[in-house]
Amino acid sequence: MIYPIVLFGDPVLRKKGLDIPVGSDIKELISDMFETMRAASGVGLAAPQIGKSLRLFIVDSKPMHEDDEEEKPLTQAFINPEILEEDGEEWAFEEGCLSIPGIREDVKREEFIKIKYFDEDWNEHIEEFDDIKARIIQHEYDHIEGILFTDYVSSFKKKLLKGKLANISKGKVDADYRVKIPTKR
Ligand code: ZN
Repeated sequence: MIYPIVLFGDPVLRKKGLDIPVGSDIKELISDMFETMRAASGVGLAAPQIGKSLRLFIVDSKPMHEDDEEEKPLTQAFINPEILEEDGEEWAFEEGCLSIPGIREDVKREEFIKIKYFDEDWNEHIEEFDDIKARIIQHEYDHIEGILFTDYVSSFKKKLLKGKLANISKGKVDADYRVKIPTKR
């Protein structure tokens, strides 16, 4: 099942997600999230982006490694994740977000992360990631904390983006995937 993607302006994107009870059957939800993400050509999707305020996100870094066949893509669901460490030099990368179509901005993030999470079979992992894989995880992790990448841009840039963001929150977007227009609650 493909979910419509919640747009900037919907309050669910600003909520902290709730932990999922260990052992819950969420395989179908995760499979639907992968289907939704791929239909929108995304490399990551967090549960709040389909209207569910849960600590869950998925990542598929494959489209980011097109120039490097040696690199093994990260295709993974992260359930109840917790970033334990962030380290290394901050580097800038132009990010985008399926909930904020048409806007791309440079965001600085640290290079390395160590993260604890459950996979879809409820096995617990502690793993380290760097570079673009860390970047996608950091962006998705922000979603379950109620943070969006546009929060990091300078106040000058924020002023420039204000009109565009207001349009997105009214559903005036040009996206080639299904979206859910925010409703005031
Ligand atoms: Zn996003």
